[in-house]
Amino acid sequence: MPSRHAKVIIVGSGPAGYTAAIYAARAMLSPLLIEGIQPGGQMTITTDVENYPGFPHIIQGPWLMEQMREQAEQVGTEMIHDHIEAVNLKREPFWMKGDSGTEYTADSLIIATGAQARWLGLPSESRFKGYGVSACATCDGFFHRDKSVIVVGGGNTAVAEALFLANIASQVLLLHRRGVLRAEKILQERLFANPKIDVMWNTELAEVLGHDDPLGVTGARLRNTLTGDTFGVPIDGIFIAIGHEPQTELFKGQLEMKPSGYIVTAPHSTQTSVPGVFAAGDVTDDVYRQAVTAAGLGCMAALDAERHLASLDQLHEAAE
Ligand code: NAP
Repeated sequence: MPSRHAKVIIVGSGPAGYTAAIYAARAMLSPLLIEGIQPGGQMTITTDVENYPGFPHIIQGPWLMEQMREQAEQVGTEMIHDHIEAVNLKREPFWMKGDSGTEYTADSLIIATGAQARWLGLPSESRFKGYGVSACATCDGFFHRDKSVIVVGGGNTAVAEALFLANIASQVLLLHRRGVLRAEKILQERLFANPKIDVMWNTELAEVLGHDDPLGVTGARLRNTLTGDTFGVPIDGIFIAIGHEPQTELFKGQLEMKPSGYIVTAPHSTQTSVPGVFAAGDVTDDVYRQAVTAAGLGCMAALDAERHLASLDQLHEAAE
């Protein structure tokens, strides 16, 4: 069984993971970064990024991730294409196993596994997932050229997806369960100004309608959240954009977590409930959840890991 040991292992490859890698590598800790199934994370399925400081013109999410990855590699991070499937944080060094079969041990661990799209949980939603129901407009918008689509949600993601889809689809219907959006005002202004987008307030998706052969969406049954009345609309595609869930399943029972699944860290620190294990980015942040805050937390995690390793060295020296 192949095995690898490192002073610092970073699991996850979004802004948090790459930034942690840049700082850990520059601290001469020779980090390994295990990239996971989707290298670059959620930023690789976003398009325009307008609020990452340092870039006055619109940049693309995948491009920004490539730059971070390249920088992390240039300063001495080893990138590993593997996906961690088992973890033991009760023993030191910390132990992990990838689905490649490789076992990893680390003196300190930085968890930056991010978050993934949340689904409504309707049986009809699962039935048509990948066949007209999607959680990623940049991935699947292309299939709805000159067709009509629904976007469900009222946050930044939903509004950004609706604006993106308006460039492709003939009509976009944004469904929001309340009467007020929570998206940034600048995005809301663009949404309301777009002639291809209609907002349907106080409305939720009750059921996805479609046919079996070939499997595909033909419509939706919607419900007014104030009156409970339901009604049908013809539609070709449905995009669910109702927020994200932290990817922490792997660490359940081993790290303290909030009931929502976010990893708990000490105040003003990335330290988790296990000394030597740090968490950064959307896996721990249920408040800000921005690329730039994830990068900031990644930097903090690397500095915290460096201090932890220095204190371990001091303990070993004192023992000798
Ligand atoms: P979010 O801000 O948590 O918004 C989720 C939206 O989905 C809310 O409007 C919520 O409705 C709705 N929702 C949740 N559960 C629902 C359900 N079961 N049925 C119907 N609607 C439901 O999530 P997000 O938009 O994915 O954004 C996540 C984070 O990423 C935020 O911090 C956001 O600022 C950030 N982000 C930033 C940008 C940017 O360009 N700056 C772009 C994308 C995302 P209620 O409003 O009623 O709760």
